[in-house]
Amino acid sequence: MVRSTLLKLSENKKFARWVTSNQTTRKMSHRFVAGEALEEAIAAARVCNDRGMSVSLDYLGENVATAADAQRARDAYLEVFDRIAAEKLDANVSCKLTQLGLDMSAEFCEGQLLSIVERAASYGNFLRADMEGSLYTARTIDVVKRVRSQSPAIGTVIQAYLYRSEKDIQDLLSIGCRIRLVKGAYKEPQQIAFPRKKDVDANYVKLMQLLLPSGIYHALATHDPNMIDATTRFAAERGISKDKFEFQMLYGIRTDLQSRLVREGYRVRVYIPFGQDWFPYFMRRLAERPANLIFFAQNLLRRG
Ligand SMILES: Cc1cc2nc3c(=O)[nH]c(=O)nc-3n(C[C@H](O)[C@H](O)[C@H](O)COP(=O)(O)OP(=O)(O)OC[C@H]3O[C@@H](n4cnc5c(N)ncnc54)[C@H](O)[C@@H]3O)c2cc1C
Repeated sequence: MVRSTLLKLSENKKFARWVTSNQTTRKMSHRFVAGEALEEAIAAARVCNDRGMSVSLDYLGENVATAADAQRARDAYLEVFDRIAAEKLDANVSCKLTQLGLDMSAEFCEGQLLSIVERAASYGNFLRADMEGSLYTARTIDVVKRVRSQSPAIGTVIQAYLYRSEKDIQDLLSIGCRIRLVKGAYKEPQQIAFPRKKDVDANYVKLMQLLLPSGIYHALATHDPNMIDATTRFAAERGISKDKFEFQMLYGIRTDLQSRLVREGYRVRVYIPFGQDWFPYFMRRLAERPANLIFFAQNLLRRG
């Protein structure tokens, strides 16, 4: 109920304007967002690198309204790859295809994405296309496959809550595509997605067991200790060494677990979002954990 309301609110433009223009909520967004400027993301990336973790930088934005906005986002990503190289960071990039104009046309989005992936490839780097709501699943996979056939420096994300995901994984594995496995962050109807957490978790473990033996370098993105234990156990049983996959977690979430995994010799990548368009991302993080909402409300009352 709380999750549904927050996810619905994440699409409300009026509420977004209020939250993003309010000084208190802007400060509170720093709990999950490195900052509004690239410099702040780079500083956060350096801290993670110094702690033995790699990062993925996400210039926040989604569902842009005009081609000019989509082109500005493309230019921002080109700059991000240039800066990663200049700063010698252990970092790659994550981005949402609706930020690159997927709502306008798949062809337009594909052209934009290809130019960014070619820049990534010129540095020996990599871009991950995030997975958005189910309206975009098939289109995201199609665009990624088309771009990948021209430049392989791209992978994508599969959500364990969708019934279709096993088939999508088999499809993507057949072309050697790198996959980030997540549980899924959007509100989806039960006709297409497991409604119960325990079924999502069971599917996550099942899909992880498909990914790890594939010989392709995949990412297990979760803060759930049960998913992490299932992964480390399975890898040990199958003799899959720790450098053959990575764990990924979000900036500001379970930093204790991030450090523990590094100490145990696992690869960890922290997803670092930055930019002015942080509202929908922030709301999805609140929706994932009701305790975050309490923390948020207490801060608002205290400062108000
Ligand atoms: C690197 C990364 C990239 C992602 N990319 C995508 C994507 O492209 N598409 C997509 O749909 N989803 C994406 N997600 C989000 C994902 O789908 C889940 O919504 C999110 O990771 C929460 O699920 P969980 O696996 O951590 O398990 P949960 O069962 O939700 O949480 C397990 C535990 O983790 C901690 N936790 C989880 N979320 C939070 C939070 N917001 N605040 C504080 N603690 C928390 C809590 O301790 C919780 O008990 C991504 C997640 C990560 C880590």
